[in-house]
Parts: sequence; C-alpha cells; structure tokens
Amino acid sequence: MAADINHYIAGERVNGKGERRAPVFNPATGEESAHVQIASADDVNAAVAASLQAFPDWSGIPPLRRARILNKFLRILDERTDELAAIITAEHGKTISDAKGEIQRGAEVVEFATGAPQLLKGEFTDNVGTGVDSFSLRQPLGVVAGITPFNFPAMVPMWMFPVALACGNCFILKPSERDPSASLKIAEWLTEAGLPKGVFNVVQGDKEAVDALLTHPDVQAISFVGSTPIARYVYETATRTGNRAQALGGAKTHLVVMPDADLDQAVDALMGAAYGSAGERCMAISVAVPVGEATANALVEKLIPRVRALKVGPGTDAEAEMGPLVTRQHRDKVSGYVDSGVAEGGKLLVDGRGLTLQGYENGFFIGGSLFDHVTADMKIYKEEIFGPVLCVVRATDHDSALKLVNEHEFGNGTAIFTRDGDTARDFAQNVRAGMVGVNVPIPVPMAFHSFGGWKASLFGDHHMHGPEGVRFYTRLKTVTSRWPTGIRAGAQFVMPTMR
Ligand code: NAD
Repeated sequence: MAADINHYIAGERVNGKGERRAPVFNPATGEESAHVQIASADDVNAAVAASLQAFPDWSGIPPLRRARILNKFLRILDERTDELAAIITAEHGKTISDAKGEIQRGAEVVEFATGAPQLLKGEFTDNVGTGVDSFSLRQPLGVVAGITPFNFPAMVPMWMFPVALACGNCFILKPSERDPSASLKIAEWLTEAGLPKGVFNVVQGDKEAVDALLTHPDVQAISFVGSTPIARYVYETATRTGNRAQALGGAKTHLVVMPDADLDQAVDALMGAAYGSAGERCMAISVAVPVGEATANALVEKLIPRVRALKVGPGTDAEAEMGPLVTRQHRDKVSGYVDSGVAEGGKLLVDGRGLTLQGYENGFFIGGSLFDHVTADMKIYKEEIFGPVLCVVRATDHDSALKLVNEHEFGNGTAIFTRDGDTARDFAQNVRAGMVGVNVPIPVPMAFHSFGGWKASLFGDHHMHGPEGVRFYTRLKTVTSRWPTGIRAGAQFVMPTMR
C-alpha cells in the first residue's frame, strides 16, 4: 500500500476530511510511489482558521524577529539541500543537480526576505504643514495563499512565502498534486526554525481546494503560478470578490541569434536552456530565431549533433543532462506535439519520440527533438509544449525577429545573442516581454529584483519577489499627525491646504 501524503495545518501534519486521493509517480521508473490526499473545502477552512488564529501575534512581532526565524530556516535549507533535492527528483524527475539549483534560487528569496526590517521601512516627511508630519507604513494583508505548479516544487513556493511571511502575513500553500512532498518538508523545517503554529500551512489538492481558497472571505490575496488558462481563471475568480491576485501563466520563450553572435556560445546556451530540466521550465527556450539564412544553416548544423548526443537518464544519474517528464500523460502530450509538427510541415531534424532506457522501460522518458523551418501558424509554435522540443523559426532581419516575438501570445522572457550594442539595446527596449536576456539565455531575475512576464504570461499588476513582492503582500498606509496637540486651527470646512 503506497504511503499517504497529507496536509500541514497548525504546525503539524494532519489527515484531511476529504476522501479523495491522487497517485504520485516516480517518473524515472513509472511506479506509483504514494498517494496524495486531495483537500476538501473543510480542509481549506481548517487551514484558514489556523492562519487567522496565528495572524495577530505574527503580524505584531517586530520584523527583525520574523527575519531571524527565516534566517534559521535558511540555514536548515542550506544544510539539508541534498535531502530536499532527493525528494524533488523522486517525484518530479529532474536531475539532482537541477533540483539543487532550484533550491538555491528559492533560498535566495529567503535570504532577501531576511532583510524584512529594511524592506518594510516606510517614508517620513516632517513638517508637511506647520507642526504636521506624514509617514507611510506597509502593513500585512492577513491570510494569503499560494498555488504552485509541478515544475518547481520548492523554488516557486519560495518565490512567494518568504516575502509574505517577512511582511507579517500567514500563508497557505496549495502545491501541485504531482509532486507534493517537498512542501511538507519545507513546512516541517519552518516549524523547526521557530515559526509559530498556523503561520505556514499546506493543503494538498486540486481544483476543489483552489476554488475554496479563491472564494474564501478570509483569504486576502492569491499568488498563482501555472498554465495560462488556469492563471486567467484564478485571477478572474479571485479579483471578482475584490481580492488581490497575481497569476503567472505559460510561456513560449524565443532566443534570437543575430549574424554577429558568437555561435558556439549561442549553441551552448540553447542546449542548456531548451533541454535542461527536459524543457519543463517556464523560461526554457522553445524557439530559436536565427537571423539570416547563413546564421540559420550554421546554427542548425551545430545543434543537430549536440541534440542527438543529449544524455537522458534518471535524475539520480550524475551523468544525466535531462531526466524524464513528470507523468506518462505529459510525455504522451509532448510526443503528440512532435507528431503534429511533422504533420504541419516542420522539418524534424532530431526525433526524440519513442525513447526507452534499459532498466527504466516504464519511465516517462522522451529524447530531445529539434525542428527546423517552423512557421508562426504551426501549433508547435503557437502553443506551449513544455518538453524538450526546440523549434527553429528563421527570420530575415532583426525587425522581423522582434516582430515575431512581439506578436506571440506569451511574453514571459526572451533573449538575444549579438555582439552589437545598438541591436541589443533596441531589442531590450522594444520587445514585449517581462524578462530579457542579452547573451544570457535564461534571464531569471535574482531575488532582489522581481520575476514576471507580460501578455498572457501574467495576469495582475505585480511581479513576484523582490520589491514587487513586498508591495504585493502589504497595504500602504499614510499617517498625517499634528503635534503638539495644543495648536487650535478652529473648524475648517474647505479642503486642507498649506497656503
Ligand atoms: P497547471 O496550471 O496545471 O497547475 C498549476 C496549479 O493549478 C496546480 O497547483 C494545480 O493543482 C492547479 N490547478 C490545475 N487545474 C486547475 C483547475 N482547473 N482549477 C484550479 N486549479 C487548478 O500547471 P502545471 O502543469 O502544474 O505547471 C506547468 C505550467 O506552469 C506551464 O504552463 C508553465 O509555463 C507554467 N509556469 C509558469 C511560470 C511563470 O513564472 N510564468 C513558472 C513555472 C511554471
């Protein structure tokens, strides 16, 4: 009987009232390794009640003390990275080194959040009028929730909760039901670091739990990361009741290769960015746009042997460059996209379909695929594949490459490889995407900047973590005070001015 993965409410692991369970797989072997409990609305209510109870004390303690708890959590995270990475690899399938990388990027947000006293500093102006001072402060929202995708079971929650907690909020995490165990480990370590009960809770589940969070009158804000249709739904549902929401969606990330680019550098960048984590990253490069026929021909010639030589293996194999996909269903979907690319006339140069690995015959593996002569009307170009499939779309010049990127539905990130400063600047200034790389293939902002896309890649006004995260998880209040109280201006019925 496979183990049951449950919830974390009020400082401990608890079984929910919901009867439903979902299978969790080891993607490398294809085995069902556990079941995850699927929360009912009652389970969500229990998490909200625990958060509400914890909120007055948590929001009332000095930010420095909150920061110290996060600091202790950071140390635990650092000491036990291997343990968490193994949990991630066992349920997600990514390589151990990649899992460690996501923990590191998440830990950097915790590090940023340990600056809480500085981050929450307001503004002060003395003497805005005679004997009148004004100051602004940022106050926490209350109970906030995060709904996260399967592809970064540690990093994406850490884009959210460190900043939310540092600002004095209580947090409910609803992780992906496909790799739920990392969330429980994180919750246990937060408790060990001294986080009071109920400040951080985990409810496992699916749409039922998400809907309960979106419509709960005591949940003040929702952070979401996942696919675009669900992001749109989450944003519309949460904001309909006046709640704050930020919902990050899917992506189709283009990398433009100019004729003057260092081609070897561009090829290295494309290999890592397109096939790392088996393409299951929102910032994975899924479209290469070489400018000019000569650039395209040379690029493709260099890419073909590299894609053929990709080392695919279980995430626990230190030699593997790419692990399996997360589920059989997702692997079949990616394989179906390759079928459709062929049917629509794309030139399939490397075919990753049908890959089986000795000893791992039931694993959800697929090899890397490479298409050339893809056009903007093809399904493999228009839709997010979320697998190890790179499409080459040839462009005649910089302007048409830029137009291609700008006309795509998604606008998460993009990159350009060039040696020319004018071209790079023009691209960075005019491209319609939230994160831009210049000779950097995956321009994921560091924790002290903010992460987010444009167009159908983000619904809402705030990007995640960094200064935008602090703004999202706080409300601004401005206090205007007059001292000493002895001054009497008399009743004034006109608009107060300083004339
Ligand atoms: P998903 O949209 O299927 O699931 C995301 C979350 O929504 C999960 O917690 C899931 O349980 C929940 N959910 C699923 N269906 C739902 C429904 N009908 N109603 C309410 N909630 C529902 O996404 P995924 O497959 O887990 O993750 C991959 C997607 O996430 C890709 O599209 C990827 O681009 C995107 N992503 C985006 C970013 C970004 O920063 N923009 C980062 C990581 C992943």
